[in-house]
Amino acid sequence: MKVTFFSSKPYDKEFFDQANQKFNFKLDYFETHLGPHVLNLIENTDAVCAFVNDKLNDAVLESLAQKGVKYIALRCAGFNNVDLEAAKRLGLRVSRVPAYSPEAVAEHAMAMILTLNRKTHKAYNRVREQNFALNGLMGFNLYQKTIGVIGTGNIGVAFCKIAKGFGARVLAYDICENPDLKQLGIEYISQEQLLSESDIISLHCPLMESTHHLINEDSIKKMKPNVMIINTSRGGLIDTKAVINGLKSKHIGYLGIDVYEQEDKLFFRDLSHTIIEDDTIQRLMSFPNVLVTAHQAFFTQEALEQIANSTLSSLFHFESKTNFENPNAVLI
Ligand code: NAD
Repeated sequence: MKVTFFSSKPYDKEFFDQANQKFNFKLDYFETHLGPHVLNLIENTDAVCAFVNDKLNDAVLESLAQKGVKYIALRCAGFNNVDLEAAKRLGLRVSRVPAYSPEAVAEHAMAMILTLNRKTHKAYNRVREQNFALNGLMGFNLYQKTIGVIGTGNIGVAFCKIAKGFGARVLAYDICENPDLKQLGIEYISQEQLLSESDIISLHCPLMESTHHLINEDSIKKMKPNVMIINTSRGGLIDTKAVINGLKSKHIGYLGIDVYEQEDKLFFRDLSHTIIEDDTIQRLMSFPNVLVTAHQAFFTQEALEQIANSTLSSLFHFESKTNFENPNAVLI
């Protein structure tokens, strides 16, 4: 089987080539995003391997199907960038990596909380300048604070356990409650209550129509003053303009985002010599209490190994028409 990769980076090649020793597929790597402009790169390809910011809309999928592509293997968990209805109509099979090291993302979410709270990023720079003063570095204890978790799937569960380990009160909201978490002392409550009672809110639900702009002018009004919001899930969960207003009015005390609504034009690239035209991200980055990381929450060695193995294994099962180890990997 020939698999063509889009949005690939040197680390993808390293981990996929390693995992491919077991499968022996022909792997072709392209750094460019998948979109209408690169369809001419696809020749005699059975499968396309895409990532979070590759747009697999109706038109792109139709062209892929016309070129003989049969499988789409997403090397990520979220699938909001794929028109699944169109894929189904075109007879394409689509897989994702449903659960790869959820701890990788959960630990990054906690790293963002600790950085924003204890300002280690500022302390690091200060000390390097021989400035040993503490002014402006004061944080707060996480112990006995209230942390609200929206979405308690694989990553949400891992995050709840970490938060519980800090001695925080952990509140959760999900459309489907997890009884194991209740046993651990996590309290499921309504989304409204969670918004109004939490000192820190961490988002771990997928981006769907029902969760688009979950954080907006109205939901921000319901939050505690000085709330910390953490988003390691998908940029579209947050109405960025509303959050900027919340930061300006000081209702939002801290914001940590690993994902951003317009990230496809920015993230995963070195733009250090470029004039950034996106004024919204520039405004966000101008706040001293905002921390932006460029979709790196998944980026651990363990996660990359699992992503590569799981993606290639899905393609093997599609091709050999055998049962998937994890049925949640199959979207169509
Ligand atoms: P998952 O499918 O295991 O869990 C998602 C949970 O969200 C489920 O329990 C589901 O019931 C819940 N949910 C669905 N709709 C909801 C709603 N309206 N309100 C509250 N909860 C709702 O997914 P996961 O593996 O935990 O991943 C969560 C998200 O994290 C993914 O969708 C993806 O977008 C994001 N992610 C980000 C990175 C990164 O590097 N930043 C890496 C992996 C995943």
